Amino acid sequence: MPSLDVIEVLDWFDANARDLAWRKPGTTGWGVLVSEIMLQQTPVARVEPIWLAWMARWPLPSSLAAVSQGEVVRAWGKLGYPRRALRLHAAAGVIAAEHNDVVPADIDTLLALPGIGAYTARAVAAFAYGQRCPVVDTNVRRVVARAAHGAGDAGPPSTTRDLADVEALLPADPATAARASAALMELGAVVCTARAPRCGDCPVVSSCAWQRAGRPAYDGPAKAVQRFAGTDRQVRGLLLDVLRGSTDPAPKTRLDLVWSDACQRDRCLHSLVVDGLVEQTEDGRFALPGEHRQGVTK
Ligand code: SF4
Repeated sequence: MPSLDVIEVLDWFDANARDLAWRKPGTTGWGVLVSEIMLQQTPVARVEPIWLAWMARWPLPSSLAAVSQGEVVRAWGKLGYPRRALRLHAAAGVIAAEHNDVVPADIDTLLALPGIGAYTARAVAAFAYGQRCPVVDTNVRRVVARAAHGAGDAGPPSTTRDLADVEALLPADPATAARASAALMELGAVVCTARAPRCGDCPVVSSCAWQRAGRPAYDGPAKAVQRFAGTDRQVRGLLLDVLRGSTDPAPKTRLDLVWSDACQRDRCLHSLVVDGLVEQTEDGRFALPGEHRQGVTK
């Protein structure tokens, strides 16, 4: 059973929580959902300006659902993993049509929305609606692994074990539990970081099991290192940049300028078309989806 004292983490959070746009009072369930999808694998500093612009432009699910997929991909900018934009657009359509334009509060109903997974459903239930449910991301797993279990880092994820671990830590009161989930996440994001934990600033340093065990090195399976330069992700991003910056469909010759390896370039362009992020017009040019429907090849 984990022994991490979340009340200490909560007190620290009350005094130190970052003043993030989506944490301001009055943020709707829609605002929280948009923030959670944008924050997947993307740092806060990159998300915040896009989130602000997004919410000003599309304050309701129905306002997002009313625009083309291309507009949504364009507004997604350089946040990366742009399929998230299409998933958000699809979820907005269902929320508008089937849930009275209000993001559901119930976890199972959230899970039934297109593209909403276990983490996002729980994050919305807790952060938007103050429910008591474990919200477990990489940061939370790392804090619990160190402070409660004395390990140098979290091992491979296990949804059942990870949720049970965090569930056992949460206070009984739903609103306090929801805030505790945010507090644990914040501690992992800004203090108990992966490479250089700032234990001197940590509210649970005196009880941390990893500290007490003498800070043993992580001895679990090696973690995959994510690189970006030269990957298909980079090439797909460069291709999308061209189409985002153009109101007219772009000829292939323009797309060919972004990357010298023709084989990789064509593979990436093809994958963008397969993913629905790019469409080919009847005259063989390329465009963001839904913006040039009359001329799109089927
Ligand atoms: S004392 Fe250090 S390792 Fe332990 S939870 Fe705090 S920051 Fe993480």
